[in-house]
Amino acid sequence: MTEYPRLLVSDRKGRVFDIKVRAAGMAGHNLYPLNPADLLPLPFGSELFYLPGRLPIGLDPDGNPFSLPEYTAVGGFVSPGYTQLFLPAYLEGPRPHRLPLFAYTAVAFYKGKVHAACIRVDRERRQDIRLMDMRAAGRCVRRFRKEYPANRLIRHLERCALEYGCPAGKNFFLGRYEAPLPTSPVCNAACVGCISLQEDSGCPATQPRITFVPHPEEIAEVACIHIARVRHPVVSFGQGCEGEPLAVSPVLEEAIRIIRSRTSKGTINLNTNASYPEALASLLAAGLDSIRVSITSFQPECYMRYYRPKKYDFADVLESLRIARKAGIHIAVNYLVFPGFTDSRPEIQRFFTILKRYRIDMVQWRNLNIDPVYYIEKMKFPKDMPAVGMRHLIEMVKKHFPSVSHGYFNPPKEKWYNT
Ligand code: SF4
Repeated sequence: MTEYPRLLVSDRKGRVFDIKVRAAGMAGHNLYPLNPADLLPLPFGSELFYLPGRLPIGLDPDGNPFSLPEYTAVGGFVSPGYTQLFLPAYLEGPRPHRLPLFAYTAVAFYKGKVHAACIRVDRERRQDIRLMDMRAAGRCVRRFRKEYPANRLIRHLERCALEYGCPAGKNFFLGRYEAPLPTSPVCNAACVGCISLQEDSGCPATQPRITFVPHPEEIAEVACIHIARVRHPVVSFGQGCEGEPLAVSPVLEEAIRIIRSRTSKGTINLNTNASYPEALASLLAAGLDSIRVSITSFQPECYMRYYRPKKYDFADVLESLRIARKAGIHIAVNYLVFPGFTDSRPEIQRFFTILKRYRIDMVQWRNLNIDPVYYIEKMKFPKDMPAVGMRHLIEMVKKHFPSVSHGYFNPPKEKWYNT
């Protein structure tokens, strides 16, 4: 008999094992069998979670779904560079606690290994923890304490790297790829799944926000240290441990001017919710090289329901894209993927309109870190929402927009158009 992907479950103690039941995955409200073509061996650095208060759903030999109340559901948190195709299939039991802010991917046991329903979208090993020598990072932390005793931003990045385990923070001390430049304690949005500030959801933020605005000199010092050490360096405003960088744009503008007065090397990038077009214009004039706009939906009503903006709306985001396009910089979309929604027809229609109108250069297919059922409820997804499948969506973009590059990480200017 042909081997099929088997369901992974857990007991009440969190011990994970497979059982002789066909594995299934979810996309929005819909259930799908997990086929070998959808699966990859669980990427190194991924984690398996048991999902308390959630009953796993499997399929009987005729493909009919049934829940298994004697077990607890399991999901995977796949490592950077991989995009999820399906969510775990489960039923919420009575009064479940909100799941913490991770992206939960369907997993199964197949050919003797744990597999995840995901696709690799970026081959770069920027955040591969096997390549991060933490003793070397620690030595650099100690050296920078002596060399830059007054730089508060470096002190903040020490916590990011050593306490929060942030790969971007580690890469700064290791002198690899991209360095983070967090600057803003505030944000003009209140995203349902904000990883740096959670006020009403019953689940903790993943890492607390920076509590001060660094001086332009402190920011420029960090950026120039990194630019001098790395072959194709990227330095990026807009990190998981801050609010919206455009909210403190005068500081960023000054910092960019200082960096560019010292070096023309490197890519100065802004990860942003793109809510302040005028502020963005001032950064472009100062020498900003690229932007990455984070977005869960290109449908204005869905955007507003998730971002819950204060004093801006979706039109401002589009105006920022127009200004960036006019300035000719590299524009990436940080598309926060949710299977069953991102690949739904209404969303694809809007997405393709935006790709065409603003000639977007790159799509970063990142997984939305959120409790799936909570998100479906908050976004009021209709039950009968037709979806084409995440893998098919990515193929459609490749077919209809061949010049658009695909990935997960902010590329340096030397690699912008190497699709
Ligand atoms: S835009 Fe970013 S910082 Fe602001 S609420 Fe959303 S996720 Fe949080």
